[in-house]
Amino acid sequence: MASIFTKIIQGDIPCYKVAEDEQFIAFLDINPNAKGHTLCVPKQEINRIFEMNEEHYLALMKFSRRVAKALEKSIPCERIGMSVIGLEVPHVHVHLIPINEMKDMTFQHKVVLSSDEMTALASTIHGHL
Ligand code: 5GP
Repeated sequence: MASIFTKIIQGDIPCYKVAEDEQFIAFLDINPNAKGHTLCVPKQEINRIFEMNEEHYLALMKFSRRVAKALEKSIPCERIGMSVIGLEVPHVHVHLIPINEMKDMTFQHKVVLSSDEMTALASTIHGHL
């Protein structure tokens, strides 16, 4: 069965899209740790990040770096944290999280943003790519 992220990539489920190219897509996490929490996802459905071939993995890192730089320009924060987990969604994704404190990386502290705020945020980040 297609992963939830494949359904997003195919346009069957909506997302707040931040960036896209031939190989990757970035969209806002629906349950963010912090404002601007973004997921960078390969369009090819792969379960574990270290199963990716080296070229594809490095391309994901390059794409994620570009998105992280746009995030830094969009969200006042101490820095951008990066994490790969995948226990909930078995489709590779890089979490990029604008952080100020360690708790922003714990996935236990969440923020709630309105749909309008998420739309505006995605547009602002996209504008800084
Ligand atoms: P992980 O697999 O890395 O443990 O966590 C999956 C992440 O994907 C979580 O942060 C969760 O909020 C996010 N997520 C799960 N389902 C959706 C969805 O349908 N849309 C978006 N934008 N994010 C999702």
